[in-house]
Formats: sequence, structure tokens, C-alpha cells
Amino acid sequence: MSSTRRIWDRRESTDDSLDVLVVGAHPDDVEIGCGGFVHALARKGLRVGIVDLTDGEPTPECPHPDQRLDEAIKAAETLGVQLRVTLDLPNRRLFDDFESRIALAKEIRRYRPRIVLGLGGQTPMASPDHQQAAQIIEAAVFYARLTKWDELFENLAPHTVGVYLHYYLAMRYPILPTPNAVVVDIGECLSVKLEAIGRYASQFAHRPEILNRIKTYNQAIGQSVGFQAGEFIGHPTGWGFRDLIGGILGEGPRGPVE
Ligand SMILES: [Zn+2]
Repeated sequence: MSSTRRIWDRRESTDDSLDVLVVGAHPDDVEIGCGGFVHALARKGLRVGIVDLTDGEPTPECPHPDQRLDEAIKAAETLGVQLRVTLDLPNRRLFDDFESRIALAKEIRRYRPRIVLGLGGQTPMASPDHQQAAQIIEAAVFYARLTKWDELFENLAPHTVGVYLHYYLAMRYPILPTPNAVVVDIGECLSVKLEAIGRYASQFAHRPEILNRIKTYNQAIGQSVGFQAGEFIGHPTGWGFRDLIGGILGEGPRGPVE
């Protein structure tokens, strides 16, 4: 059972719920997979929080787990989110099990997000933690709303997540990560995304080519639909829009780049 959590919290009130909770296996998953989208949401004034299921350590070039955690906080500040929680589930041997589901479902009950944005898809040739995380997140969204089980959740009340979305880590353009993935415009947020990823000096200072690859990938996705840069976001149960045209054109004068 997860016993300790590290919390960085700059919400105005600890009673504030979140609009969006974004979940990854390791500190840097969220930044790489959907950092542009997350920054765009924060810029709109939405209350966004991040949960990392593990501290991501050990890794070859990081001298101590505390450094990775400090880097994660700097990255959260860069993205403009309000909360970051790091759970102490085990890196490299993360498994979808009952305790992991409960640990994350408690965070969902605690912060009551309208939307959960979680890892989707597989990452072949990379950490198997990602696929396990995807299963844990899906289960935790479900567990969070179950009644008559409060004793397992520190008596936090059930919470129903309104919308559950996926982001993706595998960079396999032009292969769609899932048939119903859409491209979101991060043209104005790509530089901040790359800055946030760069905060993880322990992971990327010795591998600047990774940042270049992410930048090129996001530009290729975005330019395939007329944006300067984009990220894939998927809806595991299927998209529905109350205002399709408004959604495509965006708010105000900002729309697809010519
Ligand atoms: Zn990862």
C-alpha cells in the first residue's frame, strides 16, 4: 500500500477541486506526452494537477531521487499547473494491482477533477510501467466513484470523473496512437513544453537529441492539420461535441494556423 506522497500545492485553498488531473507513471511522462496541452489548459485558467505514480528513480544519470523530485516541481511551475503529487509506487516494477488502484483512486477522490487525462497506449522498447500505469488509471477512475467502500479511501467521498481522456508517449508518427485520437493545437505552447522537459536535467542534459525529436514530432503532428505544433489526445469511449465548429475554431481570434 502506498504510504507516503510528496505534494507540491499552490492552490489558493486546499478545498479547491481540480478541473483536470493528469496522471503519468514517472515524472516527465506528462511533460513529454501532453505538456503543451497541459500548459494550454493552465493558461486558460483551468485548475490543473499532476499525479506521478512513481518517482521514476533510479535512472542512470540521476544522483539521488530528490533531484528528480525537484526537477518535477520546477517543470510543474513551468507548465503553470497548481498541484503535483508524487506517489511512492515502485518504479521499474509498477503493476496494475489492487493497492495501486486504491492509491490513485484516493487522489481522484481527494482532488475531485472533472477530467482525468491519463496515459494511453503502449510504449514498446520503453518502460513497461507505462502500460501498467494506463491500466491503473482506468481502474482508479472507476474505483473513485464506487459507493459503500469509503473505508478503503480514508473515508474520502466517492467522486465521478466526468470525462476520461488519453495522452500518448510513443512517438510513431504518422501512425495514429489510436483510431479516435485527435490533434490539439499546441503551437503557442511548444516552447514552454520543451522548457518544462528541459527542467529534467538528470534525464535530458546528456541527451539533447531527445528534445529535438519531441519538438520535430509535435511539429509534424500539428502541421498535418494546419497547426504549428500539436499533440494527440484520445477518448477511450468516443468523442462527442456539443459545439463541434466552436471546438475546431477555438475561442476568439485564435484558430488553425494558415
Ligand atoms: Zn515514463
